[in-house]
Amino acid sequence: MAVDSKAFLSIGKSKAKVYVEGDSGKITFTDVAGVEEAKTELVEVVEFLKEPLRFTEIGARIPKGVLLVGPPGTGKTLLAKAVAGEAGVPFFSISGSEFVEMFVGVGSSRVRDLFDQAKKQAPCIIFIDELDAIGKSRASNGFYGGNDEREQTLNQLLTEMDGFAATGATVIVLAATNRPETLDPALLRPGRFDRQVLVDRPDLSGRLAILEIHSRKVKLGADIDLKAIATRTPGFAGADLANLVNEAALLAARNKRLQVAQEDFAEAIERVVAGLEKKSRVLNEKEKKIVAYHEVGHALVGSLMTGSGKVEKISIVPRGMAALGYTLQLPTEDRFLMSEDELQGQIATLLGGRSAEEIIFGSITTGASNDLQRATDLAERMVTTYGMSKVLGPLAYQQGQQNMYLGNEAPNPRRMVSPQTAEAIDQEVKGIVESAHNHALEILKLNRELLETISIKLLDKEVIEGSELHELLGQVKSVEAVAS
Ligand code: ADP
Ligand code: MG
Ligand code: ZN
Repeated sequence: MAVDSKAFLSIGKSKAKVYVEGDSGKITFTDVAGVEEAKTELVEVVEFLKEPLRFTEIGARIPKGVLLVGPPGTGKTLLAKAVAGEAGVPFFSISGSEFVEMFVGVGSSRVRDLFDQAKKQAPCIIFIDELDAIGKSRASNGFYGGNDEREQTLNQLLTEMDGFAATGATVIVLAATNRPETLDPALLRPGRFDRQVLVDRPDLSGRLAILEIHSRKVKLGADIDLKAIATRTPGFAGADLANLVNEAALLAARNKRLQVAQEDFAEAIERVVAGLEKKSRVLNEKEKKIVAYHEVGHALVGSLMTGSGKVEKISIVPRGMAALGYTLQLPTEDRFLMSEDELQGQIATLLGGRSAEEIIFGSITTGASNDLQRATDLAERMVTTYGMSKVLGPLAYQQGQQNMYLGNEAPNPRRMVSPQTAEAIDQEVKGIVESAHNHALEILKLNRELLETISIKLLDKEVIEGSELHELLGQVKSVEAVAS
């Protein structure tokens, strides 16, 4: 098929019209709630846009790319618009999937177009939604090439981002994704999207604040208790809450009421929950309880282990795409080398969640499968890569270098080994995991009361962090200390 180059150009240019310019003036940070950390980070971006000279004159480098990471509906797009609104600058918005269409070369010409327009209007913001649609890791396509069109688009994006530093134009590129683990590492290098801002599902007080924002637009009855509604909607993202308020208003209108009543909300919650449960994003009471004990199990074991960092936060607000709850451990220092002890401690911490389920409920759920995967991978690496097994000795049983792109910590395929060696490796890996599991069980049995107390508290508050958490975890008794 013959297509002349003019047709190509016009395809590239035509999409330029989808960029929304400057009409975001009305949205500001007051329209976004429940994501305070993300807001704090973005305030700085607003200041750069407002007064670039203040920063450049003392020699500070203006950030070029900020990546908003978080599950769907948490307010990433809204935040990007609020940044533009606060700074009072134009906002060019396009979605990653719009870049990549069937004609080869169109994606990259659209990128060029977009940046050309933006440079003319600087200072301004370019917002790329669904960055993963263009920025997928080239490695994730497998060994033999991938989608050429997407790769060209990605390369063009990288070129543009590297290029406009030289021009001195204040263009800040914001992008959003809910799949950061699939992004090409080249996108995350310094000078590109080197800042990442987590936009997570809101906790109880965040949900209350979001409900307050959205219910301003509807007439509320005197009996409305937004706090009670927030309490009943764990796992809801901002978009779910906005949807909830609207559903309640629709029900009120259908019931010929003049104001929205609490019972409209009750019914709306059921409807929205039913929808979300299908997408398996909302937990029932029983599940919530299991997740709470599971996370506290990680935290208790983790608090005793060296090498896995200080436990800073436990949460049963579902986060990201898969995790139902999470325990956040921050390293106390940058670590490049890990001792055998520390690795064993990490494995025990990973197994702490499942061990708590065993002790409290006598049964285990599928929720721990990712922990088990990671624990097994670590144990396998100890044996096959780090030479930490007495039986197998200091030999490397894996092929080549660790293939480390973002978020991939699975070991490489094994070398060809004899069936006996393979058997011995399996035995060793199993031994390491089992002894870590026993250690975790011992710790949790010894601290069972504390496990109960913290879990009940967590069920109530959904998040425990900071000094309150440190104080609770300070009470954990270690098995060794009790034995001696
Ligand atoms: P995302 O881009 O993360 O998928 P959006 O920004 O598109 O989410 O959110 C869709 C809508 O849901 C918003 O326009 C807003 O009405 C509501 N919403 C989402 N998150 C929030 C929040 N944190 N605060 C207030 N409203 C929110
Ligand atoms: Mg969005
Ligand atoms: Zn877990």
